[in-house]
Amino acid sequence: MKQTLTFLTILFFVTISAFTADIIKTSEGDLSITCVGHASVMMEFKGLVIHIDPFSRAGDYTKTPKADLILSTHHHGDHLDTGAIDAIKKEGTIVVLTEIASTSYAGGQVMKNGETKTFKGLQIEAVPAYNIKHQRSEGNPYHPKGEGNGYVITFGDKRIYIAGDTENIPEMKNLKAIDIAFLPVNLPYTMNAEMAKAAVLSFKPKIVYPYHFKFGESQLEQFVAAMKDVEGIELRIR
Ligand code: ZN
Ligand code: ZN
Repeated sequence: MKQTLTFLTILFFVTISAFTADIIKTSEGDLSITCVGHASVMMEFKGLVIHIDPFSRAGDYTKTPKADLILSTHHHGDHLDTGAIDAIKKEGTIVVLTEIASTSYAGGQVMKNGETKTFKGLQIEAVPAYNIKHQRSEGNPYHPKGEGNGYVITFGDKRIYIAGDTENIPEMKNLKAIDIAFLPVNLPYTMNAEMAKAAVLSFKPKIVYPYHFKFGESQLEQFVAAMKDVEGIELRIR
């Protein structure tokens, strides 16, 4: 029994750590999604390469395709890694970031919560990302409201939501027609299993990628278990 459990545990970790590129069909062609690791995601669409929160400790950015567009959700080191950005920048790369992040990285395009802009033909909406419950100390949340961005990117007829570092905030109810959502399951900085499930139920994406998790420190398994009774939403663990 003990050996079986050990084997299953190893199998679980091997399965969820496998590197995968997923292809999503859109009205304007294939969207390829690669989970690089941690909170880093790469997407390819119509010849464009989009990197989200590239972080050198999550992947080798000297080997990934160069970026046409880089989206940084906030200024924390694992979401604004200037070394990784420099490694994937090329002539004409647009870096989208927050106002605070713009003080450590010059030349980017600042987006604030609630703004919608179009870069390289892609519509990008910046939405709120913040903590309500999880705080460093009383009145001092890990991610104060207004500082960080989540992003909704439109690819043809598909809408992808990258939540950034956030909890299940009330503004998620305003998210409309999200096909794919990346939701952080990372303690103590973002969501526990219960919060992540509440987030999913508040805007009902078709596919959910939990991300930004750490084995042993995140409630990934609990989240997967909690989602068992939710029908019609696909969970993808990468
Ligand atoms: Zn953060
Ligand atoms: Zn983070």
